[in-house]
Amino acid sequence: MVKRTGGCRCGKVKFSVEGEPSRIGICHCTDCRQESGSAFTYFGVWPVGKFTSDGETTDHEGRRFCPACGCRLFATDQDEAEIKLGSLEDAPTGLAPTYELWVKRREPWVKPLEGAEQFDEDRQVG
Ligand SMILES: [Zn+2]
Ligand SMILES: [Zn+2]
Repeated sequence: MVKRTGGCRCGKVKFSVEGEPSRIGICHCTDCRQESGSAFTYFGVWPVGKFTSDGETTDHEGRRFCPACGCRLFATDQDEAEIKLGSLEDAPTGLAPTYELWVKRREPWVKPLEGAEQFDEDRQVG
């Protein structure tokens, strides 16, 4: 089974995920823009049982980051782990987004990703 590893810039936090993600997305919402300091976030979601981490993290509203270097890393709940894919060791990751969220906040110079499902706001399931 494929295992991917990642971590923060200073190396105090490491994590790994096993197997392929359940889904991969991009989010253009104002929270994600502010949190990342960038135009959007790029993330993958794994079953929480496939995720392990090592090292101390701090969180704000569930989004975990390294207290030493500030890298945004992941968020977990009882079912899922959402990983900021830019924190994976290998680049490119080979993981292509299958959907985009909050496209109404997308910068006009960012084009819709071909083949990715487009949501005006949060993802609607079912
Ligand atoms: Zn760090
Ligand atoms: Zn967002």
